[in-house]
Amino acid sequence: MTERHTHIIGAGLAGLQSALQLTLAGLPVTLYEAAPFAGGRCRSFMDRELGCRLDNGNHMVLSGNVAVQDYLYLTNALDTMERSPKAVFPFMDAQTGKKWEIRMNDGSFPWWVFSKKRRVPNTRWVDYLSAALPILRAGAETKLGDVLNPDSPLYRGFWEPFIIGALNTEIESASASLLRSVLIQSFGAGGKACAPMIPKVGLSESFVQPCLNVLRQYEVDLRTTHRLRSILWEGNQARELVFSNGNRVEMGPKDWLILALPAWFMRELLPEVSTPTEFRSILNAHFRVEGIEGRTGFTGVVGGYAEWIFLRDGVASVTLSCAERHAEIPTRAMAGLVWKEVAKFLDKDPETPPPHRIFLEKYATFAATPEQNLRRPSAYTGWDNVALAGEWTATGLPSTIEGALRSGIRAAQTVMRWAG
Ligand SMILES: Cc1cc2nc3c(=O)[nH]c(=O)nc-3n(C[C@H](O)[C@H](O)[C@H](O)COP(=O)(O)OP(=O)(O)OC[C@H]3O[C@@H](n4cnc5c(N)ncnc54)[C@H](O)[C@@H]3O)c2cc1C
Repeated sequence: MTERHTHIIGAGLAGLQSALQLTLAGLPVTLYEAAPFAGGRCRSFMDRELGCRLDNGNHMVLSGNVAVQDYLYLTNALDTMERSPKAVFPFMDAQTGKKWEIRMNDGSFPWWVFSKKRRVPNTRWVDYLSAALPILRAGAETKLGDVLNPDSPLYRGFWEPFIIGALNTEIESASASLLRSVLIQSFGAGGKACAPMIPKVGLSESFVQPCLNVLRQYEVDLRTTHRLRSILWEGNQARELVFSNGNRVEMGPKDWLILALPAWFMRELLPEVSTPTEFRSILNAHFRVEGIEGRTGFTGVVGGYAEWIFLRDGVASVTLSCAERHAEIPTRAMAGLVWKEVAKFLDKDPETPPPHRIFLEKYATFAATPEQNLRRPSAYTGWDNVALAGEWTATGLPSTIEGALRSGIRAAQTVMRWAG
């Protein structure tokens, strides 16, 4: 291998981003992935039962996610995303079926909160201000349960779907400072930064395949079915990688290693690295619905089990974040309950769920609590030649695509800076 080779373990978005950044900077990399495919928690697959392609979970990003925009640009994938022309968020009340929209103005001064037609029904502009101020002033240990009033109409109509969607953590124990970062970078930047973006075809077609195409052009070696089992050290340096398939890779004295692994595996591999120790799940229900083939888009849902319903290619895909809240409900019963809400949205028979699939991502995200947030390490480890990437590292953001991509950039920068 050439001098100063970087070995990247994990081909989720963090690892792909590190590989892309180093490759475009002219540095040689090899990418190792445990699964037979890249993408990690952000991928699409062919589902034989429903006979269509599905995403492992609904993913939404916003036009102001700068690392996402940059990554899509560098991988020629901007056109693979459906971008709403405006920051409009449709909602439905699961109990009454009532529908409304939050319609933000483009600029950063939020005059939309002064318009009854643009804000959540039955809320006053002062509700937004009185909720935002304590969040903006919150310390690192403040929980949202301490600063938000659950009796306010804004809580149920706005904070609940927004916070649970963004942080995937129950509001009472979620970190106010993590929400503040999201608010500043989205709502604080105005409607221009908040236009929703959703893959036109699928997650892999937007976030994985285009990056692999670029890496392939540069002849980057992607070794799938390579599960890292252990690292052999010489003093403060990683010197050999041992994989479960029996392969071993010796690292040269100038080589670097980027570990873009999920937090729960990092804890096993290198227990001395501080990582989040608590996680939250996300349940996704996909219904193959006749008669909606041409419909696309999404809606938020309040007061029900579903948080978001997305429509694409005749499939209604539903997100239930922080799914441990519903752990006592058996999957089959849950499908029936969620379908009732989807049926209300689509005006279909609520008693007869169409063919469907339910997937639970048990370790979907780290728990976005103040305690867990303080456990996140930076990209630089203190070892001579090892950097960390992954949404769980200290990006200042919750577990998101934006966070994963930023972590990949930081790890690549660490290699470039320290490798000289
Ligand atoms: C259901 C769901 C919905 C989500 N919705 C949104 C959303 O709407 N918006 C948003 O921005 N974000 C969302 N997210 C979060 C987003 O998907 C993640 O933050 C992001 O994909 C994490 O990327 P990563 O590279 O850090 O980690 P991962 O994707 O976990 O990548 C780690 C990679 O390492 C590999 N690996 C593991 N162990 C080994 C080993 N021993 N050796 C080699 N390789 C190994 C894994 O197979 C994986 O490919 C959602 C996540 C889920 C699960």
